[in-house]
Amino acid sequence: MIVETRNEKETFKLGYSIGKKAQAGQIYTLTGDLGVGKTIFTQGLAAGLGIEEPVNSPTFTIVQIYEEGRLPFYHFDVYRIGDVEEMEEIGYEDYFYGEGVCLIEWANLVEEILPRPVIAVLIEKNLEKGFDYRKITIDGMDESIQTEVNSEQEEENENIGN
Ligand code: ADP
Ligand code: MG
Repeated sequence: MIVETRNEKETFKLGYSIGKKAQAGQIYTLTGDLGVGKTIFTQGLAAGLGIEEPVNSPTFTIVQIYEEGRLPFYHFDVYRIGDVEEMEEIGYEDYFYGEGVCLIEWANLVEEILPRPVIAVLIEKNLEKGFDYRKITIDGMDESIQTEVNSEQEEENENIGN
């Protein structure tokens, strides 16, 4: 599915809508250039899982663990990773094959250890459509969830301007 957003709040709300429906064992991969909105999307997804503490990109650790939500949430940011061996050192398999929800920013950098299937989220800018425009392409999400997310997005759009 493809969703277009026009500001940070819309991207957050998309993440939120998906987070509310996230299921144990799912792995979300996030790809897109620096500053495109991966962390904003992640913050929305975490909020949708019921996590209230602030979620930011883990800077000194590869993974940040949140256990206060509806499901455990494992937020990876592998931007600074040198080698996938670093993933082994933190015991990534416990998270990838565990009972929580994993989300990996810059997942393309650890492509070789990603299990299948994943839910792949690609965020892209298009400056011709404006500085804050983002095209968000999501692959691998259940049809039924897509339908729900779409209708929530439409409701959101109708509310704009009210
Ligand atoms: P990343 O994690 O991909 O490096 P961030 O989520 O940290 O990026 O930052 C995205 C930046 O882009 C924020 O400053 C945010 O305000 C801005 N922004 C502008 N428009 C959007 C949009 N439509 N969706 C998400 N972020 C947006
Ligand atoms: Mg980030």
